[in-house]
Amino acid sequence: MIFLRNKTLFILTAACLLSPPLHICSAQEGIPAESQQYQEEGTLSPPDYMSPEPQPYEEEGTLSPPGSHAEEGTLGAPSGNSTSIFSQAGQSEPVKEIYLDDSLPFAQYSVIHTGAAKLYTSDVCGHTICINAGHGTSGGDSAQTLCHPDGSPKVTGGTTEAGATYAMAVSYGCTMIDGTPESSVTLSLALILRDLLLQNGYNVLMIREGADIQLDNVARTVLANNYADVHLALHYDSTASDKGFFYLGVPDVASYRAMEPVASVWPLHEELGQHLVSGIQQEGLPIYGGGRMEMDLTQTSYSTIPSLDVEVGDTASDHSAAYQTRIARGILAGLNSFFGVE
Ligand SMILES: [Zn+2]
Repeated sequence: MIFLRNKTLFILTAACLLSPPLHICSAQEGIPAESQQYQEEGTLSPPDYMSPEPQPYEEEGTLSPPGSHAEEGTLGAPSGNSTSIFSQAGQSEPVKEIYLDDSLPFAQYSVIHTGAAKLYTSDVCGHTICINAGHGTSGGDSAQTLCHPDGSPKVTGGTTEAGATYAMAVSYGCTMIDGTPESSVTLSLALILRDLLLQNGYNVLMIREGADIQLDNVARTVLANNYADVHLALHYDSTASDKGFFYLGVPDVASYRAMEPVASVWPLHEELGQHLVSGIQQEGLPIYGGGRMEMDLTQTSYSTIPSLDVEVGDTASDHSAAYQTRIARGILAGLNSFFGVE
């Protein structure tokens, strides 16, 4: 099955045929179409207490800047100089700013959504990865969003305790033992990962590229659901033991796994996690606790695509550019494996 939006399928297919692909354009096995179809089925009524302000919304394809790599003419270029396209893409201005359209499924549950994510297109027959640098929303810790779209209580603890029905819209995050805010180190990793993914043919949806983005965790997830094929939120855990990489898996609680949209997509979260753990291991980096810890997260509760919170280390972990580059390479290896590209 092709794990791409229909509206981009033709262009990407053309790119595969006409340009030397960096990746093999193989079909993605084992990724059910239901995970995409669910987006059209989200018809939950907005809660009365939410009245999100309408946000400017730009239709896809209307904002390609001059010289954008999204122009069709680029796709069939006979030069075959694909590598330069990718490196330019990594250095170019964002192809498009993406605001939250409040008609999208679950968008009505967001309370902070005046910021814009940025979509970079490398124009290879690749996939779009949402890179969500954890935290970094001013005022996010004094606003609240519903933990689950159906209003049910959280089934595990975390930043918000089990049983709660509301959580901070975006928490502040932890502080590294050298005093650097977690939001800064997740950002630096996100920027490294962005460039690496673009260089390797992926499109990238960047949730945050500065110290602050006015997008709460629900808005970030809704944007990922609608503009990406995979959603990765980058975090460092609050412990100080340099314990290594792990992902936050879907709680093994029947009611949680039966709740939409979790029910339609949770096995893919877990499959993605296993690939990422393997990728990090290939890079020779430490894994904590088998690479998995269960947690009921807002992100997971609203995701309709393969989606994970990855804790790439903790407050004692090396967050130098060199080390973060290794983490990014591990994530790339995991994504390549997940999508079956070489
Ligand atoms: Zn965090």
